[in-house]
Amino acid sequence: MIKKKVIVLDATAFYAGIPLSSFSHPSIQYYTTSSVLNEVRHIKQSIDAMDLLVNTGKLIVADPKQEYIEEVRAYAEKIGEYDLSDADISIIALALMLQQSYEVTIASDDYGIANVAMVMGLSISYTTSRGIRYPGKWVRYCKVCRITYNDASKVCRVCGNKLRSRLVSSWREKEEQKKREEGREGERKEGRINES
Ligand SMILES: [Zn+2]
Repeated sequence: MIKKKVIVLDATAFYAGIPLSSFSHPSIQYYTTSSVLNEVRHIKQSIDAMDLLVNTGKLIVADPKQEYIEEVRAYAEKIGEYDLSDADISIIALALMLQQSYEVTIASDDYGIANVAMVMGLSISYTTSRGIRYPGKWVRYCKVCRITYNDASKVCRVCGNKLRSRLVSSWREKEEQKKREEGREGERKEGRINES
């Protein structure tokens, strides 16, 4: 049997202004979590359309079980994605939970959500931006001292500067690891193969 299609919407999907017509698709069921709904209620001026969707059953408000929330948190921590809100986590966890019975896609424009979702093997569709090309691990670094931090530090422990973040994809990380193992050999000439 073909699994029913489900789309889990995060707050950015609502801000992007989803056309009501997209909810008329008979075989797609939309979901969101109560924390996202509350967030949108606080920010959006007009929530009539959203309430209509909830009242007509096109949009189901459901919350993930604690075990799924914990699984998402563990993944987020593993890849250094520390800036996700509880609402963000709830969306990924709900998608994970619903995936047991449905074909699930997360609709979000949030880089952090997309990153964690991709690493967890969940599918993502972008509402406005061009999206991210590959999942990766966030690494914080000090531009001044060139020190990399693999924890949730916000400022450099040496100079006190605000840390920057950069996304290191798994393949790039492997490449950098390899370079470190090869040691510093000064300028590496392009096309040269290291033999040892
Ligand atoms: Zn520094």
